Amino acid sequence: MTELARLVASVVRDDVLALSAYAVPSAEGFVKLDAMENPYSLPDALREAVAQAVAAAALNRYPDPRAPELQARLRSVMQIPAGTEVMLGNGSDEIIAVVSQALARPGSCVLGIEPSFVMYRMSAQAAQVRHVGVALRADFSLDTEAVLAAIATHRPAVVWLSYPNNPTGNLYPDADIAAILAAAPGLVVLDEAYNIFAGRSWLSRLPEFPNMLVMRTLSKVGLAGIRLGYAAAHPDWIREFDKLRPPYNVNVLTQAAAHTLLDHLDLFDEQAREIRATRRELMIRLRAMPGVEVFPSDANFVLARFADGPGLMKALLERRILVKNLHAFHPLLLNCLRFTVGTPAENELLVTAVADAL
Ligand SMILES: *Cc1c(COP(=O)(O)O)cnc(C)c1O
Repeated sequence: MTELARLVASVVRDDVLALSAYAVPSAEGFVKLDAMENPYSLPDALREAVAQAVAAAALNRYPDPRAPELQARLRSVMQIPAGTEVMLGNGSDEIIAVVSQALARPGSCVLGIEPSFVMYRMSAQAAQVRHVGVALRADFSLDTEAVLAAIATHRPAVVWLSYPNNPTGNLYPDADIAAILAAAPGLVVLDEAYNIFAGRSWLSRLPEFPNMLVMRTLSKVGLAGIRLGYAAAHPDWIREFDKLRPPYNVNVLTQAAAHTLLDHLDLFDEQAREIRATRRELMIRLRAMPGVEVFPSDANFVLARFADGPGLMKALLERRILVKNLHAFHPLLLNCLRFTVGTPAENELLVTAVADAL
């Protein structure tokens, strides 16, 4: 060990030293179906409009910290109910981190469903707050009795619900979410990252539930590169979270681009319709293969179980197709792979490769 390595190890938190960094595999030369990106690009005219908006942005100035124009645009196009406040994030990942930090009282805990989105657990760890996991049932339905029992036992400061759930793709029944909202002693976050594909939302019901925060992102809509997430909740919550938000977290380029792009939500709705139709196609093709179990999806990805998930992953990599191997992610996901719904051509490559490898 060098002297510097010793110094680093003596100063950095032990739990951080034990972590490994979030791995993003290089996708150079691959058909990229691992990260729920929208496979379609923007029409030339819209790219031109974005270019002009971005060219006019004042790069020498810090961004307006609350981005009021962008917030107003979001409120109107997303129909965010009156009486709520909005906070923008550099992706919703940042909002998860801010909420986790704000609620991390010593000795408190947060509750997440398992398997679900990894950032809830990672942000809890960064904030040094305990993460209580409640497993889904084997069919990935919500074990609501177990969630309610864990809420009663652990009194979590926040309950994280990915709606639909990543990586299982399903929505939870309204009655179960209502029961969780009624029982939770703290905040309940509905993470609606896949809303454009699901068509069901709790956003309009915010005024009914003062302990609910609804979080969304433009990433899965088709704008993962600009990093813009948003949260809506009662102003009492947002006021506190806003204190921990880095003041200039949404940069001027993102603000300018988003402002222009939000005028064209019909385009993203159309792409989402296309993706839902191709998702159906992809599921039918996979289901027709022997020994493949395909789970229902309300998102832009398909989860499937194979006889040998890791073996298939390897075969797909050899064919330069990048998907997500969830085999070791959670015991319920044994031999499972997750495929982002790509273009029809990309899905064809995937289906052919899977069929050849089985
Ligand atoms: C992808 C994803 C996010 C992250 O969104 P960003 O805005 O890109 O940070 C949040 N929640 C869930 C459930 C996701 O799958």
